[in-house]
Amino acid sequence: MGFSSLVRVLVYLIMPATSSNKPYRVGRSKTGLGLFATKPIKKGTRIVRYFGPILDSRIPAHDEIENKYLFELNGRWTIDGSVRKNLARYINHSCRPNAESDVRPRERKVFIRAIRNIEPGDEINYDYGTDYFKAYLKPIGCKCDSCEKKRKKLRAEARAETAKVKARKAKKAGAKTTATKKKKLNGKHFAGKAGRAKA
Ligand SMILES: [Zn+2]
Repeated sequence: MGFSSLVRVLVYLIMPATSSNKPYRVGRSKTGLGLFATKPIKKGTRIVRYFGPILDSRIPAHDEIENKYLFELNGRWTIDGSVRKNLARYINHSCRPNAESDVRPRERKVFIRAIRNIEPGDEINYDYGTDYFKAYLKPIGCKCDSCEKKRKKLRAEARAETAKVKARKAKKAGAKTTATKKKKLNGKHFAGKAGRAKA
């Protein structure tokens, strides 16, 4: 192998993590950073591997490691995804995601796979699971699009309900005035009649 081809091979070996033929890039999301599609990604495509050192819960030093990028494979094995090269760690949670984690405990590997067709510019996300949701997202309120939409809808419904109640109150108040007016008119009418009768 010539020197230049050796260099090319080395460059190829070094480059994959930053290579532009990957269909995603790290970008700004609502909650900080996120992973965004740069090319159309077909449903079913393996997008990126979630990788990092494998931790063994039976080793006390491993069991003590604590960070928000730990991906539990099963009771024993966990991937520590906090390493910089693990771009999959930028993928945010969504309750209505366009990707999923394909967990392979035996191989000790996790792949993020598209479960819908993803368009360039779309943020890639997957469901982190109920344990994570309950521990980290529920207390602060999930910021995913689906939950934001739900909250917006609830707010709109609450506003509509308030408006309805107001309208009902206004109608009642209006009905009262009409009733009072009617009484007065009746009173006048009677008074008129009485007056005429008197006359
Ligand atoms: Zn959500």
